[in-house]
Amino acid sequence: MAVLVCGGAGYIGSHTVYQLVKSGEKVVIVDNLQTGHRDAINKEAKFYEGDIRNSEVLDKIFTENEIEAVIHFAANSLVGESVEKPLMYFNNNVYGMQILLESMVKNGVGKIVFSSTAATYGEPEKIPIEENDRTAPTNPYGESKLIMEKMMKWVSRANGVNFVSLRYFNAAGAVESGAIGEDHHPETHLIPLILQVPLGKRDHITIFGDDYPTPDGTCLRDYIHVLDLADAHILALNYLRDGGESNVFNLGNGQGFSVKEMIVAAEKVTGQKIKTEMGTRRAGDPAQLIASSDKAKKILKWTPKFTNVEKIIETAWTWHKNNPDGYKN
Ligand code: UDP
Repeated sequence: MAVLVCGGAGYIGSHTVYQLVKSGEKVVIVDNLQTGHRDAINKEAKFYEGDIRNSEVLDKIFTENEIEAVIHFAANSLVGESVEKPLMYFNNNVYGMQILLESMVKNGVGKIVFSSTAATYGEPEKIPIEENDRTAPTNPYGESKLIMEKMMKWVSRANGVNFVSLRYFNAAGAVESGAIGEDHHPETHLIPLILQVPLGKRDHITIFGDDYPTPDGTCLRDYIHVLDLADAHILALNYLRDGGESNVFNLGNGQGFSVKEMIVAAEKVTGQKIKTEMGTRRAGDPAQLIASSDKAKKILKWTPKFTNVEKIIETAWTWHKNNPDGYKN
């Protein structure tokens, strides 16, 4: 039996495939390579180039392989872009989920682990955020992921497809060898953008506002290593295999770092001074997003290994230094 990874050529998808392969799982990947990278595809996995919105592609995969479970990453994930192009997000993310679930039901596949996000909460009602807190997304990206969670909830009740939804906080870092890593076009995430300064690819990093109600006025985020996220997917898969009921888990380190603190940490890691400029607030940015991951720790027995933010940045730095222009293909 194999695990189908939808979006296995993307950032978190490729790292999860890396860990799945390492743990001896048989992996099949489907990716349309719209934002994924051919060079990020694990050589040990069987690869189908295709779009999950095409039921023929999925039916073919489910027919040609014995798929036990799906891990679903295939989605657009840029907050700003989602505000500009909401329909693109509802089409790719929400409609994609519909076709995927239809094909899973049709082909008798009963387990799905889903890549969700802290963006499902919107402006948090309290810190740290727990899974039962209010979900009120402030952008179409978060809304699309919340709708996808709700689709799985109803399908699990009606059709017996059990799901685990993993709400990540700020994914960061790369495999320590630097063989795979983060490569978005356009890049909008803080750590890769900070590291572009010592790489000589940008003159400075703009801090999006220092008038937030936080200790140094800049936003606090909970940075979690991509391999710790990957491990959580494997634990979630095993939880479903053991008969665990459908469930939702936060994944974060439970510690908030400000934008300014991240820049100082990156200066330590790279040994270079990083020039900053003060900008205005970015629309839709909550002052702080910090997870309580107690539920994942208790139920999934998840223990993040990368608890030091400098170590997380160091793994990102290794990747970016080796691949200043990202993947070639
Ligand atoms: N940020 C910033 N400058 C940048 C990019 C991001 O100050 O060029 C801030 C952003 O406002 C947020 C934090 O860094 O407070 C993390 O942003 P990112 O886009 O990496 O992740 P998000 O929290 O939006 O998922």
